[in-house]
Amino acid sequence: MYVLAKALKNVGLTHMYGLCGIPVTDLAYLCQEQGIKYVGFRFEQQAGMAAATHGYLTKTPGLLLTVSSLGFLNGLTATVNATVNCYPMIQISGSSSREHIDLGQGGYENLDQLNVAKPLVKAAFRVNKAKDIPTAVARAYRAAVSGRPGGVYLDMVESCLGEIVDAKEAETWYFNPVDPCPAQVPSGESVDRALKLLASAKRPAFLFGKGASYAQIDTKIKALVEKTGIPFFPMSMAKGLLPDNHPQSALACRSTIMEEADVVMLVGARLNWLLSCGHGRWNPNGKFIQLDIDPDEMDCNRPIAAPVIGDLDSSISAMLEKLPNYKLSMDPAWPAKLASETKEKNAKFAARLASHSKDSPMTHWTALAAIKPILESHPDIILVNEGANTLDDTRDSIDMFEPRKRVDCATWAIMGMGMGSTIGAAMATGKSVVAIEGDSAFGFSGMDFATICRFKLPCTVVVFNNGGIYNGIGVNLAHNGDPAPTTLDIDAHYEKIGEAFGAKSYYVTNPDDLKNALTEAIASRAPNFIHVQLAADSGKESGHIAYLNPEALQHPLA
Ligand code: ADP
Ligand code: MG
Repeated sequence: MYVLAKALKNVGLTHMYGLCGIPVTDLAYLCQEQGIKYVGFRFEQQAGMAAATHGYLTKTPGLLLTVSSLGFLNGLTATVNATVNCYPMIQISGSSSREHIDLGQGGYENLDQLNVAKPLVKAAFRVNKAKDIPTAVARAYRAAVSGRPGGVYLDMVESCLGEIVDAKEAETWYFNPVDPCPAQVPSGESVDRALKLLASAKRPAFLFGKGASYAQIDTKIKALVEKTGIPFFPMSMAKGLLPDNHPQSALACRSTIMEEADVVMLVGARLNWLLSCGHGRWNPNGKFIQLDIDPDEMDCNRPIAAPVIGDLDSSISAMLEKLPNYKLSMDPAWPAKLASETKEKNAKFAARLASHSKDSPMTHWTALAAIKPILESHPDIILVNEGANTLDDTRDSIDMFEPRKRVDCATWAIMGMGMGSTIGAAMATGKSVVAIEGDSAFGFSGMDFATICRFKLPCTVVVFNNGGIYNGIGVNLAHNGDPAPTTLDIDAHYEKIGEAFGAKSYYVTNPDDLKNALTEAIASRAPNFIHVQLAADSGKESGHIAYLNPEALQHPLA
């Protein structure tokens, strides 16, 4: 175990998120002794969400430590989710004796963890001998951060964790992997092909994804946007890469871009379900340029006319360098049209928020109208956000002004990342975090509010309680007095969870109290909990993605 702690420290890994038990407890102690920050959680899945968010915000893998069997499986959920989202992290799990597993002899926590993890994560390795640990750590690190980042699993066989080795000899085993995340430079030909197509476009647009935020090349992206004058659309977690109110931001014009753009350049964004897989409203004659590190991503839903395969730093730098060789033929009416559509849509949205700003009981819009000016005046706060309506309406309401300040449930649109991501974001950056959570979403991770308090993190958790999944007005079709399947707890006092662990806690029912509570909470740089009581009928089935339900169920049952 000492060898593992030392090897992790030696490659520069700084944070371990986990939950102790047999056989990894001593490992956590030894890592802490080595100066690796150890953050103990109440649920492995949340520790994993923290490690993943740490990886996304720092480009350095967060470590997740889990026990065998159930702990491993609980954590694996987060490691798989990180892999889907291209976040680097490493899950380290103790696993029981190989002999028992391989012969199916029912040993303690008997599960063939390596083979469970393997098909679901970017890479998985089993370590049987202490001497192999530094090699395994180096490989895990490389696999997590190089190419398309992702989750890596290290299976630490119990006998290896307990192996006694000669301390002096072990000192000779450690090494630092050279250039673990090498630049991957795109071919000059691919860059010219892309620029030629971009220059020929009459109605071009840039589309930025969280890969573009992850790359930490904010000033280069800004230069490309401003030098070309081309409008841009950010995906949810790319909001703030350039300020949402940037003059070229076409955040409000998603449909127009889909329907009318003739060339769209995808930058660290996948043409997946979040973009109708390139079909639906998309202009069938539009052409795509795609900048990505992963060649397999090309043509996955629509043919890509100009793939640029490389790391974004190298690819954007190459484009900037060659840009002066091309003359853009963008129709000046196009950015002007998008700018005026933006102005019109933003005014409509502001009027909508204002018209609900005094609703009593509050709706999602009332609460967000109160929160918006406060969060927007603190642009360096990280906003963590999950829920259905709480996710959609918060994303649409709160403008972001700085890169990597929005962390949400991302590609799979999962619920249950809230407390873990909040803790990971605060630990990785030292910044204040505000989590805006639906009441259902909060339930998946709520117990780890205790971890926020134990570590005295500058985090405020805001729960929008509308009493249910989507809303609190589901109807029981059997009329037998049981709650409906989507019904939760409209009369709950979630803020008591805050009180239980010593956080300053608020229960608010009107926008003025909400404003005061949030202002105070942010200023305190301490753990805070704000329960926001909404109307039970605020919010609709599945939020903005109701259309993904099976067709027959798209209309509310009643
Ligand atoms: P969004 O959901 O915001 O659209 P996605 O997660 O779908 O973003 O897409 C992110 C893309 O960014 C992935 O295809 C991934 O391969 C790519 N990517 C991640 N990091 C880099 C990088 N450093 N350079 C190039 N591409 C990257
Ligand atoms: Mg709800």
